[in-house]
Amino acid sequence: MSTQQDQIKRIGVLTSGGDAPGMNAAIRAVVRSCVYYGIEPFGIYRGYEGLIENDVEQMNAGSVKHIIHQGGTILKSARSPQFKTKEGMAQAWENIQEHELDALVVIGGDGTFKGAMEFGNKYDFPIVGIPGTIDNDIYGTDFAIGFDTALNTVVEAVDKIRDTATSHNRLFFIEVMGRDAGFIAMYSGIGGGAEEVLIPEKDRGIEQLFESLERTSKRNKSSRLVIVAEGDKNGSVYDLEEQVKEQFGDRYETKVTILGHVQRGGRPSCGDRVLASRLGVLSVEALRDGKRDIMVGIRNRKVEYTELDHATKRNPKMDKELVRVADIISI
Ligand code: ATP
Repeated sequence: MSTQQDQIKRIGVLTSGGDAPGMNAAIRAVVRSCVYYGIEPFGIYRGYEGLIENDVEQMNAGSVKHIIHQGGTILKSARSPQFKTKEGMAQAWENIQEHELDALVVIGGDGTFKGAMEFGNKYDFPIVGIPGTIDNDIYGTDFAIGFDTALNTVVEAVDKIRDTATSHNRLFFIEVMGRDAGFIAMYSGIGGGAEEVLIPEKDRGIEQLFESLERTSKRNKSSRLVIVAEGDKNGSVYDLEEQVKEQFGDRYETKVTILGHVQRGGRPSCGDRVLASRLGVLSVEALRDGKRDIMVGIRNRKVEYTELDHATKRNPKMDKELVRVADIISI
């Protein structure tokens, strides 16, 4: 008699959307868990683009050796407009059938999950998602793969900027990534000791920044760092600099730094490697248990399965406690 677990014999894995440090550790965990459970793993290169172009290769435990410590993704990543079309999806389905895949593990952000959901529903095909994005903007997990490493990169840069800011008595505006979410800004702002953190989730207007600068002026601070999420609603870091100049004249010597893509790369932190390894194993086990259309995550130290529909539609909330802590310690 065949059991649920016998039905999954071949699993394809891909990385899609923006790359994130730790994706390799997740690929490794998916491939090794497949081998452990007697499932044949297949690597799909360049996300959905590679699925459409049949860029698919059988993998084994050895294919993922020496990658746990590498940033980026050995499977490459891509954004695939074609996958949003009927023809693109049909071609992807043809290739899945050709390789006799029984399920997919997709590692990426909410766009990747939207694509997975549409494809899974259309062809009645089991797919499990693993959250991998430095922005951490995915509902259903405390942390996405890559976030922790990106924070460490940002804080290292902020520490360096602090040195020069202090030496010259400067006010720095530092823009960090995060798209519409302020998680990188908030965590790195606290960890980097920023005087002010501007995030889209809690827009307090430019007046708040003026007040804060006025207040800290009285304390004769030797440097001021303002961390700005790229999605902040008060304009770009250059706009902010301009507004501060208009308000205070030449009271502050201002500088702007946009950290940009350094935040995406680099060796994954141990935290990201462990998270990625856990989620990789869980994704394969979930498929063996007959789960589908879900994302695996860890919340409050517990394994959690979130429907892809929820993971894509809901936004994770900014923890009010973090905002409060940032306010208190930046007086
Ligand atoms: P990141 O958060 O790092 O940007 P992401 O997964 O959100 O990662 P996207 O570029 O938004 O990155 O999505 C990845 C890919 O998923 C898209 O290039 C596209 O191929 C596919 N995709 C996104 N939305 C849909 C959709 N509604 N239908 C089909 N495919 C989609």
